[in-house]
Amino acid sequence: MGTRFRYIADVALKTADDACTRCGTTTGPRYPYWGEVTGDPHDSIEHVLCTDCLQSNAVARLAWEADGLRAIAEKFSTRPASLVETQRVLPHVFTMNGQADWPICCDDWCEFTGHPADRDEARDIPKSHQEWNNGPYGTEFNAVYELLPELVSDVLLFECLGCDNKFHMHNPT
Ligand SMILES: [Zn+2]
Ligand SMILES: [Zn+2]
Repeated sequence: MGTRFRYIADVALKTADDACTRCGTTTGPRYPYWGEVTGDPHDSIEHVLCTDCLQSNAVARLAWEADGLRAIAEKFSTRPASLVETQRVLPHVFTMNGQADWPICCDDWCEFTGHPADRDEARDIPKSHQEWNNGPYGTEFNAVYELLPELVSDVLLFECLGCDNKFHMHNPT
């Protein structure tokens, strides 16, 4: 489990050098945040936020992302409202391309742990990680299927916080 954010491993967390685009502080860690931020003059969905601004009621995920995450949470958890709320105040760690998705296992979001180091590692990912695509997907092919992405950063890796399950998502950018 990440020490700063429950669902993002420390190694997979991205920080920003820029001042917080909402309050201007340069003190403490700042994180990328994509969404709607009340009181932030930054004219873009891409913000940089300090911890105080990030974990406040000023931030909201883009509507289609929030809706997509809610649909996943309603399908795979017993407490969708609480899961959607925790996603609202998470920093941006990867870009969702028109389909909001994040694996759920043991009634909780899995922890995002980053990407394979290289294509050799990506090839072996299906042996240890089940595919996730709006749900658990394709388990029967895990042993033989090779994952050969154009970009290893398109492969997103997750681990359940409650059991040994691991998942990968392919998110072409
Ligand atoms: Zn701030
Ligand atoms: Zn689990």
